[in-house]
Amino acid sequence: MPEPDLTTEEFRRLGHAYVDWVADHRAGLPGLPVVPPVGPGEVATALSQPGAAFPDGRLPEAPQPLDTLLDAVDRVVVPGSTLWQHPAFFGYFPANSSLTSLLGDLLSGALGAQGMLWSTSPAATEAEQVLLDGFARALGLGEAFTFSGGGGGVIQDSASSAALVALLAALHRVRPGWRETGVDGRERVYVTAETHSSLAKAVRVAGLGARALRVVDPVPGTQAMSAAALAGAMAADVAAGLAPVLVCATVGTTGTGAVDPVRDIAPVAAAHGAWLHVDAAWAGVAGLCPELRHVIDGVGLADSFCTDAHKWLFTAFDASLLWVRDAAALPAALSVTPEYLRNAASESGAVVDYRDWQVPLGRRFRALKLWAVVHALGLEGLRAHLRGHVAAAVALAGRVRAEPGVVLAAPPTLGLVCLRYVGADGGPDDAVTRAVLERVNSSGAAFVTHTVLDGRYVIRVAVGGVATEATHVEALWERLCAEAGTVRATSTLPRP
Ligand SMILES: *Cc1c(COP(=O)(O)O)cnc(C)c1O
Repeated sequence: MPEPDLTTEEFRRLGHAYVDWVADHRAGLPGLPVVPPVGPGEVATALSQPGAAFPDGRLPEAPQPLDTLLDAVDRVVVPGSTLWQHPAFFGYFPANSSLTSLLGDLLSGALGAQGMLWSTSPAATEAEQVLLDGFARALGLGEAFTFSGGGGGVIQDSASSAALVALLAALHRVRPGWRETGVDGRERVYVTAETHSSLAKAVRVAGLGARALRVVDPVPGTQAMSAAALAGAMAADVAAGLAPVLVCATVGTTGTGAVDPVRDIAPVAAAHGAWLHVDAAWAGVAGLCPELRHVIDGVGLADSFCTDAHKWLFTAFDASLLWVRDAAALPAALSVTPEYLRNAASESGAVVDYRDWQVPLGRRFRALKLWAVVHALGLEGLRAHLRGHVAAAVALAGRVRAEPGVVLAAPPTLGLVCLRYVGADGGPDDAVTRAVLERVNSSGAAFVTHTVLDGRYVIRVAVGGVATEATHVEALWERLCAEAGTVRATSTLPRP
């Protein structure tokens, strides 16, 4: 019978082999296609073949050496993977998984602690508290968001979860008795057409229903929420007997990087007693750089603020940083205490029990991977890399402005550049824009994604990968130009 786990010596040997695999994989990324040319079902078929890992879809009966798992990963998994850590990955937003953060995550897995209560692993809780207080200061959120200032931060698995728990805290504040009676269908949540879909999901999960979502008009000609339109919508709802619960302002929308005017929105939300949540999942970390901090202007007026360390802050998924101004708000909404979780430390009131700050009970020691990143780079290093990405995006936007036949579809924000191709009349040419995107992506040399703005197709270029340098952005630009040339040469449309 095999032992239930590796011996220490086996782990030492295999651990080195696995780390070597990681190092070789990352070093080899530039030579691989960013997106694999695989179709639906191909990976599953390869895994289920006779002689493969799961012949006929069955799990192995016999133990096998772990070295051979790497062979299967090489043969089937890597060729079937979208390579998010590739330096030419410009899709969606970056999901950085720096080698630095992997080492921190290894320590977290090694401790294997459950940090649900302070008493189940004091260090898991207090390291997270100290780290989040430090980041609150480094981002310029204000002392109100630190534990010493009466607020506090928590690492959620994702910005989606952060939005959900902010909504639950808001419900609790606005609808006392909600914990007992649930919602009554009159609750309203204010967003824009560009707000992340996680808010639409959160209102459903919270039982408010899609009707709770009120889509506020933008400032004309932009994608940013109009504070005046918000005031109008909230006043009309209140007059109709509805209950404003939460306003979600976005700093850096997923589509185009638009920034809602938090400073103007805050007093409107406050006038109606609604909770103000700022979703800065991608862009918020820019607050580390004083010259970029204007994007989170007014955040000190919010009730909660979220930014993902797992996007642009080089920390492996999952690490979404959420701060609230009132440390009691999340426990008030979420705490449920069965007998088996009772303990003296919790009852003393002197500790934070993070299970009350999230939906699940169990939680990983996520702070270690973020700690590793800030330990290795320092705030100085983090700022330098953010600045490098922004500079590369600014250079790309300059290229777009100078090139005939292609235009910026929206003002660039930080590392995000949105562009589209135009016809001879200067109007958007969706067919060319779409064809260029498809050709770039199927080349394997780079990967970009799209959005639709005012009904027209847009290519998004999100610069922010931990391995992405100015030269990769320059190479992407050359590729875009080459593909646009080919598309136009082979199309019957008039050239600009
Ligand atoms: C990416 C993103 C989200 C969702 O992030 P997860 O952490 O993956 O849930 C939410 N809001 C905005 C603005 C985003 O860019």
